Amino acid sequence: MQPFMKSFTQQEPIPQAGIEAAIEVMRSGRLHRYNLLPGELGPVGLLEQTYADWQGSTYCLALASGGQAMSIALRALGVGPGDTVLTNAFTLAPVPGAIAAVGAKPLLVEITEDLVLDFADLERKIAANRPAALMLSNMRGHLCDMDRLARICREADLPLIEDCAHTMGARWKGERSGSFGAFGCFSTQTYKHLNSGEGGLLTSDDPELMARAIILSGSYMLFDRHGAAPQREAFSDIRLDTPNMSARMDALRAAILLPQLEAIEDAIARWNTRHDALASGLGQLPGVALPRRPAAESYVGSSVQFRLPGANVQTMRAIVAAAAELGVELKWFGNEDPVGFTSAHRSWRYAGRQDLPRTDEVLSTLLDIRVPLTFDLDDCAHIVAVIGHVLQREVIAA
Ligand SMILES: *Cc1c(COP(=O)(O)O)cnc(C)c1O
Repeated sequence: MQPFMKSFTQQEPIPQAGIEAAIEVMRSGRLHRYNLLPGELGPVGLLEQTYADWQGSTYCLALASGGQAMSIALRALGVGPGDTVLTNAFTLAPVPGAIAAVGAKPLLVEITEDLVLDFADLERKIAANRPAALMLSNMRGHLCDMDRLARICREADLPLIEDCAHTMGARWKGERSGSFGAFGCFSTQTYKHLNSGEGGLLTSDDPELMARAIILSGSYMLFDRHGAAPQREAFSDIRLDTPNMSARMDALRAAILLPQLEAIEDAIARWNTRHDALASGLGQLPGVALPRRPAAESYVGSSVQFRLPGANVQTMRAIVAAAAELGVELKWFGNEDPVGFTSAHRSWRYAGRQDLPRTDEVLSTLLDIRVPLTFDLDDCAHIVAVIGHVLQREVIAA
């Protein structure tokens, strides 16, 4: 078996137009978002406007990170110390971290083998805990039944925030992920669907909530220099009642992001071609189970997940090691010790111990492959061949 040689973390370069726009910003010396000439919108305001148009949201706020977008969303909703916030048990560390950042307690909700929220556990935890909000994490790009979820939240009068770090560009029945609740939170960190190193975008249709978010982001009294902000009147009390928490995006990052946003539909198509090639190849290997995807979901396949139902800890460990030896980086979410970006609920001790048998069962055999756009279809076939080879060897050995 030929080893696979490419890197699973190598992104595409920043488009030439982004490099030139960034140089222009540096030449101007005006890197702060509010350092504008009279009447000038600037790259950050333009990014907010362009993103709101593309997303189909009324308002958009550019921020320093996706994590900041989530904690600002919670704060804008009035969530604070002593509150309980529900979120998926299968997510990454910045999600419970954003809840802890506002002093609230993350209460984790079980997931199904299709990697989405378990509605029965959600309804149980809503009834038993009077949560202040649901921070839905569309982890690894999988959308739950958004119609049903919106109904559950409406009936429980539970504010919904969507963590769309992995679903920027995804849709449910044609409507963009991030449009179903009070706020949509997006990340432009290097490993997401737009790359500015670090960065975040927050969207909403609610003028009062967005006015609070803008003041929280650190806009001083410069909220009229935004690209997709509510009218002045929305700020009249909020500007005096809301603390400044300094989490702004700068002009350099916005300049890099704008040309990427122009090309995002093409990037989505390329991700999906690669994702679908990997998923269909993996789906044909014996012992592999793929999460089912509902017909109403249009996903962005920037990663692929598969399970090996019945495999034990030793087999899983051997498979991950053997694949790594052949150059294929598999993330195993069932590992007891958190490795790299992989993070399991047991390593969030600040959230308190939580009993999540169903999630633990799913994660114990769950593997994940990142799909950078620097891979081509031959690379996808090569990865499937390596995994097929490793599975055959390890399953026979077990
Ligand atoms: C990356 C990520 C975020 C936000 O991350 P930042 O690094 O703060 O931009 C949120 N949720 C998930 C699931 C993520 O993977």
